Amino acid sequence: MFQTTIQREVSTEGIGLHTGVFGHARFLPAPADTGIVFRRTDLDNFLIEASGRNVARVSYATSLMKQGVLLSTTEHLLAAIYSWGLDNVFIDIDAIEVPILDGSAEPFLQLLDRAGIRKLRRRRRYLKVTKPVEVIESDRRIGIYPADEFRVQCYVDFPHPLVGPQQIEMVVEPGSFRELLARARTFCFERDVEPLRSMGLIRGGSLDNAIVLTDKGVLNGPLRFPDEFGRHKALDLIGDLALVGLPLLGRVEAHKAGHALHTQLVSRVLGDPSSWTITTADDHPVEALAFAEAPAAD
Ligand SMILES: [Zn+2]
Repeated sequence: MFQTTIQREVSTEGIGLHTGVFGHARFLPAPADTGIVFRRTDLDNFLIEASGRNVARVSYATSLMKQGVLLSTTEHLLAAIYSWGLDNVFIDIDAIEVPILDGSAEPFLQLLDRAGIRKLRRRRRYLKVTKPVEVIESDRRIGIYPADEFRVQCYVDFPHPLVGPQQIEMVVEPGSFRELLARARTFCFERDVEPLRSMGLIRGGSLDNAIVLTDKGVLNGPLRFPDEFGRHKALDLIGDLALVGLPLLGRVEAHKAGHALHTQLVSRVLGDPSSWTITTADDHPVEALAFAEAPAAD
């Protein structure tokens, strides 16, 4: 019902998966209607809002860019924040990339648990999908459809004996995210390691922050779930959907999608205001609230 922020400042540090650059990330409380906002403290506190408007190049990770200032690999941190129900937070980062930590969202959830949640005196607003929006690229597709809750269905199919077809379907809320997805780590194929390095990617990648798949198995097992790959893709999807900028009421279906399709969907939704309305949980139209609500303290 009400917007949230964190109770107290918390921080973490580590290297970025793609750049290998070491950085610190500090989460700070923020007032109502701030949203999720990154500040590059190494660049005079330059603000980059976690919004589809600021999506930059997207390949093996999602990067935000505003006026030429980049912040890479936001998806795991945003998945944790978005699923945890955190509406407003400043994230101070002194590097070009979010620390990868163990390659999952679990360390970010633990950080948020330490930070604690605080309710603000302003109603939470939701982006409620009212008509389907789809992005289709040959056999890959993603769509969002009207629903009264935030639900995702994510299907992947990698030709590998340990992966194959995997599907996750769930209502996204703090408990289900924690239980089903948060611990699922990022992964790559051993045969792709050198090509990716030569493209300037995964410079910070190691056996401590990514599952590496060999032709027949896993280089650094054991897996945390038999279908850890499908779960991680669902985690990535939720982290990219956070760029909508408000909690979602809608059902998202992703079929062999990835960061590029996820963020195209976000841009398409934001670019088509006829496909959604903004409501509160009790379905008061937001315009009416201006009259009903006492002035907020935050
Ligand atoms: Zn990921």
